[in-house]
Amino acid sequence: MKIETKCMHEGYTPKNGEPRVVPIVQSTTYSFDSTEHIAGLFDMPTEYMYSRFANPTVDAVEKKIAALEGGVGAMCTSSGQAASLISILNICNAGDSFISAATIYGGTVNLFAVTLKRFGIECIFVDADASEEELQKAVKPNTRAVFGETLANPAIKVLDIEKLARFAHKNNMPLIIDNTFPTPILCRPIEFGADIVIHSTTKYMDGHAVQGGGVIVDGGKFDWANGKYPEFTEPDESYHGVSYTKEFGNMAYIIKARMQLMRDFGCYPAANSAFLLNLGLETLHVRMKRHCENAEKVCAYLETHEKVQSVNYPTAKGNANAELAKKYLPDGCSGVITFNIKGGKANAIKFMDSLKLATNCVHVADIRTCVLHPASATHRQLTDEQLVAAGIDSGMIRLSVGLENVDDIIADIEQAFAAV
Ligand SMILES: *Cc1c(COP(=O)(O)O)cnc(C)c1O
Repeated sequence: MKIETKCMHEGYTPKNGEPRVVPIVQSTTYSFDSTEHIAGLFDMPTEYMYSRFANPTVDAVEKKIAALEGGVGAMCTSSGQAASLISILNICNAGDSFISAATIYGGTVNLFAVTLKRFGIECIFVDADASEEELQKAVKPNTRAVFGETLANPAIKVLDIEKLARFAHKNNMPLIIDNTFPTPILCRPIEFGADIVIHSTTKYMDGHAVQGGGVIVDGGKFDWANGKYPEFTEPDESYHGVSYTKEFGNMAYIIKARMQLMRDFGCYPAANSAFLLNLGLETLHVRMKRHCENAEKVCAYLETHEKVQSVNYPTAKGNANAELAKKYLPDGCSGVITFNIKGGKANAIKFMDSLKLATNCVHVADIRTCVLHPASATHRQLTDEQLVAAGIDSGMIRLSVGLENVDDIIADIEQAFAAV
């Protein structure tokens, strides 16, 4: 099946007389006819037993997302943050470190730099544009993973996934990629060597701003038995001595994430949430195409506007990411643009407050055009110097181009500029 067809048909195939649409299985538990049967499930989880870590509706969506990304398995989480957290905790213990690109989502920076540190896990931030030799200098004996975002939020920087995969694999480490902005419609990081892919499904995958969620996808290719990851090969005392690599082969990572961490943390989505996510996924390919088309037109309009100082979108004239975008995002760069308005913060706020169609909201990657002012919202705690270091001008506006008619979006922007 091509990816458009997978969006609709993967994950759930009704048998004769069954519901056409994946049903919402609203049950915390499952009934069995013997204690022996249940005992067997504790040895080998081949059926659903408890909805803290598995549910048929969520399972259908997990299978669909695994197929879209080209992975061997997936696990949904109750938020993108939970997906980032578990993707790391499944590999790193207290006393370990991992490497992350510095240009990543602000919420992930908090999680990695502050909260994980409190639990004894160090995140080493690097400039992802650095050469492999430079990157090598960041590796310590206890470094166990590499993390980056395909298309960084809100820096709109394209990651050289193949380079990072080479670097990670040379050091016998897995590469984890947050693929939230491109979605598997525009980029499939596993095809470029990534081992694990995560998403905030809250964004384009849901697309309609109705349900928060996340997902972790296992590419199934990383060799967890390379000697560096004993918790994958040695018996898990919390799970009757199972060895994940021996028992589950190339699904070791995703089964461990579920049977160990989801079992213990319980940040699993409800069946109803997965049902809503599935509706979003069914039309994802149509929506992403239009988001890209609209964003390219809005970008071209902004580039020529006298009140705009600069526009950051991979297809903008002279953009530093153009080459990487051609390679990793040949079908489009999604719908998020950042631009700097002349006159700094005061004009940015005047412009944003004058918009009528586009809404001011703490969201992005949604069907409705929306804007956010990073300097006064997501990056509010930073000083002026720190804002500069993070590449955020006080006049910077993050514009998430939606699916309205692009002429209406541009007309709204035009009248807001007129008010500045
Ligand atoms: C929003 C976002 C997250 C966090 O996801 P939540 O669903 O809000 O928890 C992680 N990564 C990226 C790139 C995001 O945009």
